[in-house]
Amino acid sequence: MIDLRSDTVTKPTAEMLEFMMSAEVGDDVFGDDPTVNELQEKISSLFGMEDALYCPSGTMTNQIAMRVLTQPQDEVVCHKYSHVYLYEGGGMMSNSMLTPKLLEGDRGRITAKQVEESINPDDVHYARTTLVVLENTMNKGGGSIYDLKEIESIREACDKNGLKLHLDGARLFNALVETEHDPSTYGKLFDTISICFSKGLGAPVGSALLGSKENIKQARRVRKAFGGAMRQSGYLAAACIHALDHHVDRMRDDHQLAQSIGKILQELSFIREVMPVDTNIVIAQLDDSLSESWFLEELKKKDILAVPFGKNLVRFVTHLDFNQSHLDKFSEIVNGIKP
Ligand SMILES: *Cc1c(COP(=O)(O)O)cnc(C)c1O
Repeated sequence: MIDLRSDTVTKPTAEMLEFMMSAEVGDDVFGDDPTVNELQEKISSLFGMEDALYCPSGTMTNQIAMRVLTQPQDEVVCHKYSHVYLYEGGGMMSNSMLTPKLLEGDRGRITAKQVEESINPDDVHYARTTLVVLENTMNKGGGSIYDLKEIESIREACDKNGLKLHLDGARLFNALVETEHDPSTYGKLFDTISICFSKGLGAPVGSALLGSKENIKQARRVRKAFGGAMRQSGYLAAACIHALDHHVDRMRDDHQLAQSIGKILQELSFIREVMPVDTNIVIAQLDDSLSESWFLEELKKKDILAVPFGKNLVRFVTHLDFNQSHLDKFSEIVNGIKP
């Protein structure tokens, strides 16, 4: 099976499992797990942020961030295809009583100008605009990367208007290896950052929320209330430490293989367009006469898995468990598919 549904499908490597098994653990609800503490220190200092909180999922770190940075009835500015709006089960509404203000934008990215124009007037008819959420890399935008200059302008717009800024950085490391920016550049620009260890980094479980001491203290309260405080989670945190030490640079391979997948798909007679491939996500658009379910079925018959991504769209994601020999097999198989 060649599984390209997501970069979340990877299994821990033998080295990672060994490292997990040897972790020193304690009860993290008491703050006693040395491995969780080590991970939180490691990731927060990498980004030059004061503190971090290890959580079970990226949805939870985003949801906690939105709760911590807002009050009920506030409005959150985000792209209409953002994960926090589209793929978190309506959580911002049910968990924190927030309204999203949905913006359009090139491959999932919004601009400082749009942010300024989206701020509601100070009038009781309107929700209070208090938070902006960016996503980098942008999943629905095909793994697109934000221009750092634009993020800086958005930060300025936020400061000028008293807004907070959260980064859904589930795949931020994909952007970092591609741009060679220092993580601390991002740490300086956001109030909170969410990082997933279970995507391209290849750990089995967990995400970290990064922020100031004060915001993370509040985040710890919210995590407890959301049921996300764990006990001997050091075994899981160890996998994340191992991933940070061994799986960052290799993401370049994922990006190269994604480029190759894009080129292979582009050559197929029934593919209308492949979105630009910036990182590890490839989105292909089929000819109008063909459905995404037809293509996915044909792939599945030959043991290749991908996911539907909207009308006529199919998404492929490269990862730790996909290599050059899988690519060769992929190429052979897709070239044999005929509509
Ligand atoms: C995967 C992902 C998340 C978090 O997802 P979980 O499955 O809850 O860990 C958040 N944002 C983006 C952009 C993602 O791709």
